Amino acid sequence: MAKRHWLWVTLGAIALVWLLGLRQPAPVVAQTAPTLASAGLSLENLGNGAYALIADVDFPPPEGRAICNGGFVVGSEGVLVIDPFHTPALANLLFDTVKTVTDKPIRYVLNTHYHFDHTGGNPAAVGRGIPIVGRGPIRELMNTRNRTNDPNLRAPDLVINSDTEFWLGDRAVQVARVEGHAAGTDLVAYVPTAKVLYAGDMVFHERIPFIGDGNIRQWQGSLYRLIATYPEAKVVPGHGQVTDIKGLQAMQRYFSDLVNLALSWRAQNLTREQAIAQSSEVPAAYKNHRFQLFYATGAPGLPGNLETAYDQITRSAAIPLVP
Ligand SMILES: [Zn+2]
Repeated sequence: MAKRHWLWVTLGAIALVWLLGLRQPAPVVAQTAPTLASAGLSLENLGNGAYALIADVDFPPPEGRAICNGGFVVGSEGVLVIDPFHTPALANLLFDTVKTVTDKPIRYVLNTHYHFDHTGGNPAAVGRGIPIVGRGPIRELMNTRNRTNDPNLRAPDLVINSDTEFWLGDRAVQVARVEGHAAGTDLVAYVPTAKVLYAGDMVFHERIPFIGDGNIRQWQGSLYRLIATYPEAKVVPGHGQVTDIKGLQAMQRYFSDLVNLALSWRAQNLTREQAIAQSSEVPAAYKNHRFQLFYATGAPGLPGNLETAYDQITRSAAIPLVP
């Protein structure tokens, strides 16, 4: 129980620092509404009603810039928006961008998981009467971990616990559960008529993924399923440029490298400190990735991936799906 309690505290701290990192400096109300350029976002038309808004910054993001990707799907009777960024101003920018493409109403906002960089914009959806959809324990996680740093936060009011289809008139969006990144709240959204997969943070493309709130083995399993299920899809990652099966495979390779490293530490009977000291140099394959902060030891309260791999794989600490 003691270990489990420790894990709770650690995950709480992760969420806290994650939020703090994105919330500071103290909220500055933008005098002028952000534009796609000022937010560092580019709009990509992926065809057949599927659009992506791609962020192009490193971590942590400068003030006013989006750190994650968003997207939207336009059907004959409405629009589904995916991940309204981390502030209501950025969410409103996303909603206004939808209006430049279609006059159809926004019917839903989908949160691919609970982390603040993807959900902090939710209050803007509430203001427009648009229901917010999330999965599993997302309300509980947002109302505890995220609430302390943002009293105005809005958790989803529509919680789905199984794979679900959203119909926008002539176009369906298939929302499926995946595991491993964010404590039982991860979803992906697939548009069959466009062959576009919005992968949320299951994919960090050419970025070191943040895995400190995740479960490596579950994440690996879900990547295998995504590759088998959507081999021809264009893939919109949670962070990074639009990719395809190659981006899913690159994530798999990252995790296989990490697991093999962690198993080699076990074979050498290394302590956590020895293991990380031995392996902290970023290998050539990942030297050009952004989010280097997450490779080894992270930041105070924000574990790096070598630390997480040591705990989960080398030391075989049991990680509950939902702590
Ligand atoms: Zn993210």
